Amino acid sequence: MEKYYHSVTLDKEKCRGCTNCIKRCPTEAIRVRDGKARIIGERCIDCGECIRVCPYHAKVALTDPLDSIYEFPYRIALPAPTLYGQFKNTDITAILIGLKELGFDDVFEVARGADYVSAFVKEAMKDKERKKPAISSACPAIVRLIQVRFPELIDNIINIESPMEIAARLAKKEFSRKKGVKEEDIGAFFITPCAAKMTSIRNPIGIERSWVDGAISILEIYGPLYNKIANLKNDEDLLQTASPYGILWANSGGESSSLGVDNYLAVDGIQNVIRVLEEIEDDKLTDLEFFEGLACSGGCVGGPLVFENGFVAKNRIRKLAEKAKGEDLSTEEVMYTKEKIQWYFEKEILPKPVMKLDDDITLAMKKMEAIERIYEGLPGLDCGSCGSPSCRTHAEDIVRGYASEMDCVFKLREKVKELAQQMIEISEKIPGGKTNNNE
Ligand code: SF4
Ligand code: SF4
Repeated sequence: MEKYYHSVTLDKEKCRGCTNCIKRCPTEAIRVRDGKARIIGERCIDCGECIRVCPYHAKVALTDPLDSIYEFPYRIALPAPTLYGQFKNTDITAILIGLKELGFDDVFEVARGADYVSAFVKEAMKDKERKKPAISSACPAIVRLIQVRFPELIDNIINIESPMEIAARLAKKEFSRKKGVKEEDIGAFFITPCAAKMTSIRNPIGIERSWVDGAISILEIYGPLYNKIANLKNDEDLLQTASPYGILWANSGGESSSLGVDNYLAVDGIQNVIRVLEEIEDDKLTDLEFFEGLACSGGCVGGPLVFENGFVAKNRIRKLAEKAKGEDLSTEEVMYTKEKIQWYFEKEILPKPVMKLDDDITLAMKKMEAIERIYEGLPGLDCGSCGSPSCRTHAEDIVRGYASEMDCVFKLREKVKELAQQMIEISEKIPGGKTNNNE
């Protein structure tokens, strides 16, 4: 199995083994063993759900520190539109200037990248042969969820790069041309609301390598950026180029409404997305044209690495989009960009059959029977005290050799009773061992 980088990791010291996280993981990637959580790497899609639910902050997302930008002679910030919703009474231009004052040589709005992606997707949707509904590729956690849990829907995914990648490519090309410097001397850093984006930089989907060189979390940059914005020295009129549509990509439904499609569904929150994907898989939504699924509640504004309450940020972004200065892209700009950069996936998205029991079908069947047999003997309460998310997963873990039946407290209690009974029976057989009440 391919080696995989994950942004979401466990801080073992902080984990108390409370099992809160195991049931919320959409891919059943967490187990608690010997009092500590463990993430099964092949299953994890870096959705960040476990970061949100852990009461002890033991699940963390690894991102790049702000000073890592100095590894490059030239530095470009790629702010996610979600960043705009983090600051009260602040316009987008002030945020962009603040980023430059933090040490970046240039800023390229990912929302402008989103404008391009909207134009590319609109065109792709005209293809009558395309599988319906077309599924957005914007949220990397959802694309990975499809690889792991819904491989039959891979062909529905729109094979167009994310706004972050498009922004990085355009930003590097433009800066290199303007300043006459080599593209490899330019570092492009995404200001990220989520862990899944960090993972998609290190382990990109559909491309060989990402054009983004690092990701700095909104949480990390918030303080320093807030101070810069409060004391702006520079009053240059930095061009805010993204259109209102591009900015609204931060909110659930933003991408869909930029496409001009009538029959679409925009769903946020990973469990809600799973419910809809199940319906798509069962051919219940064949008349749907477009499906936008976002892992976080409210969309990227609800990411685990943001500072502001997602609902507040969503409202601010809506208001900022109304005042946005950027214009819609012209047909010439879209055509020109298509020729200039790689904008679609160059690699096929492959399924990740991590739930498969065995490559050999006969052995897989045998293992399945064993799982059913063990499962029938378990209490069916899905209490999680064994450290697996459900009784069925516990049965599967036993068959895979990751757990023992005695990890189940009910099974253990039965066993203890049985042993106690045996002890009594043995002691009765020992001469003089039986208690005689008449003696
Ligand atoms: S929620 Fe998970 S990671 Fe957090 S303390 Fe409990 S078991 Fe450990
Ligand atoms: S990041 Fe998501 S998929 Fe990975 S372990 Fe946490 S909840 Fe599960």
